[in-house]
Parts: sequence; structure tokens; C-alpha cells
Amino acid sequence: MSVHDFKKHGKDLIDYIYHFMKTISSRRVNSDVEPFYLVKLLPDEAPHEPEEWDKIMKDVEDKIMPGVTQWNHPYFFAYFASANSYPGILGDMLSSALACQAFNWFVSPACTELEMVVTDWYGKALGLPKSFLHSSGPKKGGGCAQGSASENIFAAIMAARYQAIKLCLEDKENYNFSDEWDVLKNLVSYTSKAAHSSIEKGAKMACLRLRILDVDEKCSLRGDTLQQAIEKDLQLGLIPCCVVATLGSTGEAAFDNLKEIAMVCRKYPLIWLHVDAAYGGSSFVCREFRYLLSGIEDAHSINVNPNKWFLVNFDCNCIWLKDYQQFIEALSVNPLYLEHEWMDETVNFHDWGTPLSRRFRVLKLWFVMRTYGIKGLQHYIRRHCHLASLFESLVRKDSR
Ligand SMILES: *Cc1c(COP(=O)(O)O)cnc(C)c1O
Repeated sequence: MSVHDFKKHGKDLIDYIYHFMKTISSRRVNSDVEPFYLVKLLPDEAPHEPEEWDKIMKDVEDKIMPGVTQWNHPYFFAYFASANSYPGILGDMLSSALACQAFNWFVSPACTELEMVVTDWYGKALGLPKSFLHSSGPKKGGGCAQGSASENIFAAIMAARYQAIKLCLEDKENYNFSDEWDVLKNLVSYTSKAAHSSIEKGAKMACLRLRILDVDEKCSLRGDTLQQAIEKDLQLGLIPCCVVATLGSTGEAAFDNLKEIAMVCRKYPLIWLHVDAAYGGSSFVCREFRYLLSGIEDAHSINVNPNKWFLVNFDCNCIWLKDYQQFIEALSVNPLYLEHEWMDETVNFHDWGTPLSRRFRVLKLWFVMRTYGIKGLQHYIRRHCHLASLFESLVRKDSR
């Protein structure tokens, strides 16, 4: 496809999306296809000869669309909303066109620097303490944007594990371990029954014991419950190393009592406190909800999904660290081919998670924050909360 054809088909595709969005209410929300419907409809092999664009687009409408669940449909109420928006879509389009594989600062400086600026903007807008921002000073706090919350939670668990092992091996007075494997088998982590499955998955991948703790009548994990679990494990000779608290659980939108949990964690220097605010975190853009964030000063890391409730289309998950040196110690390797002359002065995001190559993901978050402004985003969150209250009042009025 030449750039000339790209211009033509690109405009046609925008027209297709425009028409799709205008008429989405007339489509089914979920599809009624049976398993393997598409596998049967499409050929077994890729075409040997090039095909016409129009023919491909016809298959999109005739074959693909019947099996697409319409997450943008006004009657879609499953899981969580798709926080889609037009500036977000345009941001992804530009990111695809630039095709940067920004693993470190040197390969595309603007990608890294915009990520620093935008995660600072977003963190400030949510009321995170200054210590979580890049602007807190070099090599201290800061955020990045990865593909999903699961990735960031896994990275945080790995960092917790790494730091606990390191401290246990350094502290010869209190611990008597021969090597890291000896420590690893004694580590234990905690989360609540209401927590997302990605925490269980992260602990499983990290070979960590995980205690899944009971919650109160509001599905909230309380400090006492955590305290008792930790004491029990200490009596068994185990080493508590990680707590994951949830702000906005996926099932009930429940908030753990972060303040109480933080007070408990403060007593145990080996414990890394991670806060999973993937779903509920964006609500902190409105000051009236920030009381739920109380205790965050004591956390080591927090993640929020702008793609759940901040008008950014998937994929985009931000994590902020108070001391990202601790984080990247656990994750970084530095082969010769990644070195560059500004290595020590710059932030190199390939050290912040599993992927090496990283796309220009924050463009869409930047587009969204500028297009709506904090004011527009606050309005969006408040309106959703208002609709939820309205729904609650209607349910309460109904005797069923
Ligand atoms: C959705 C969700 C996750 C997982 O998010 P992904 O980006 O899909 O990995 C984690 N935690 C909570 C609370 C969630 O709601």
C-alpha cells in the first residue's frame, strides 16, 4: 500500500468508524454466533496474491462484525465500561504511524519524556503525594505506562520479592539464610478476597505464598485482619514481604481500608505495600473521593488503569513508584547493545517491567487530558457516580 493509497483508505476507514459509532445502537450488544463460526468462514491459509482493500473491508462488516461484542454500545453493562474516546483513538493512530520501539530514552527521547510528563500530570490530577512523581527529583519517584494492570502488578510483586530477599541476606544479625532460594521459600504475601485475580496470578508466577484474607461487610480489607495474619505467619517463622491492597475491586467496587493497612505495614520494614487502583483510581481526580486514598504516603507503588475509567482506550495502565531504583533493581539487566551515553542521566523504561520494546502509549493519554482538561474528566467521573446513585435509588424504590 502506497502512502497515497493509505491516505484514501485511511479516510474511508475514519468514515466507516464514524458511521459505526453513529449507528451502534442498532447493532446487537453481544453476538449470537457459535464457537468457531469465524474459523469456518475464513480460508485456512493466507492469500497468496495481494487482495483489494475494499474486499477486505467487506469481510470486516460481513464476517468479523457479527462476532464482535459491542463494548461501546449504550446497553453494554458487563464487566466495566470501555473508557473509549475519540482523542484516545487518534492518539493510538499516531503512535502506530510513528512506530517507535522506545525501550530507552536514547532510541526516541520524546517517548520517554512525554511518559514522564504525562504520568506526572495524571498522578498530580489524582492527588498522589509528590514523592510518586518524576518531578520529585532525579532517581526517586515516578510513573510509567504499560499495557495492563496485570503486568504492573506482577512487576511490583517481583520487586517486593527481590527487596525482601536482598534485605534478609544483608541482615546477618536477624536472619540466617544461605542464599536467595533459601529466603524465597519462606516469603509470604497478602491480599483480600475481593482482590483481582491478577494478584493471585502474579504471586503464582513469582513462586510466593499468598494469603487471601477475609473482608468486612463492605468487602473491605481491614488492618486488624492483616495484622493477625502477619502475626500468625511470623510465629511459623515465615517472612511477610508483600501486601496488595485494592482501591475499587472489580466485583463490588469495594475499597480496602488503606489507612489501616498502611499503619500495619509501617511496622514491618520488609513489607512492600502495593495499591491496585486499576478500576477505582481515576475517581480521585475528584477531591471528594480522595479520603479513600488516605494512607497512600506509606505505599511503595500504586497502579491505575486510564483504560477503565479515564476515557483512554485499551491498552494503558500507569504505575507510580516512590523509589523506582528499588523497583528496577529487581527488573533490570543491561546488555551492551542497550547502553547509551546518557544512561545515568535518563529514565530507561525497559527497566520498569517485562517488555523491552515499548510503544508510544502515552500519546493517547496526553491527547485525552488535553482535549477534555481536568475539568472535563472530573465532570465525566461525577456524572457516572451520579448515575450510579440514581440507579441505586430506583432499585431501592422497587419492592422486588
Ligand atoms: C481490571 C482490573 C485488573 C486487571 O487489569 P488488566 O489491565 O486487564 O490486567 C486488576 N485489578 C483490578 C482492581 C481491576 O479492576
